[in-house]
Amino acid sequence: MQMIIFEMLGKLSTMLSTQCSSFFIRLKPGEQPLRKKGCGRLIHVSDFINEEDGRLTSKDSNGTILKDARKIIYPGASGDSWWTHENLLEQVKLAMEIHEEVNGPECQALFIFNNSSAHASLPPDALRAFNMNKSDGGKQRQQRDTVIPHNNPDVSKRGLNQRMTTSSGKPKGLKTVLEERGFNVQGMHAKCSPVCPIDNKDCCMARLLSQQDDFHCQVSMLEELI
Ligand SMILES: [Zn+2]
Repeated sequence: MQMIIFEMLGKLSTMLSTQCSSFFIRLKPGEQPLRKKGCGRLIHVSDFINEEDGRLTSKDSNGTILKDARKIIYPGASGDSWWTHENLLEQVKLAMEIHEEVNGPECQALFIFNNSSAHASLPPDALRAFNMNKSDGGKQRQQRDTVIPHNNPDVSKRGLNQRMTTSSGKPKGLKTVLEERGFNVQGMHAKCSPVCPIDNKDCCMARLLSQQDDFHCQVSMLEELI
């Protein structure tokens, strides 16, 4: 059995209500509601709808809702903080739990999400070439270890594990990572300024590394969870 579950509303559904008169606005992606200062309250609703019976909930035999995938928050200065990817991941865990309870573990679900920045958030140790220094160490983020992809130009390096920290525990820089993959980066600068077009190939070390499959195909936290 297969089921399609849509994430509904989310960012699209930030609704504006005022104390003076109640109304709701449906926003397009990227739009922000105009609101008067000091009057009104924002409501952010995020929910999952399945094709069989609507909202994703688990119910008892009397039809009373036991678990509900819907999350409602009231963002603002005196209310909740804004909807973040942590909120989304927590909600998706609950949604998957409800789906398994209601439909059984053998029912495969396809979760469909709208394209919000919270959905695309990368893990904190994600592989990001443009966050790396040219040399090892210094102020740069610790990144996860990786496997040299199967289309690496140097065949002898393909499929090898690559640690992203040096033996002394420092985060590796662009030069070391590329040289370990067999690239000759002699004379190549670390990053273009201003930043180079995304489809460039090897104008700088960061662009060259960012085009390698393990960096290029980095999955979001949401994809990892599912
Ligand atoms: Zn470049």
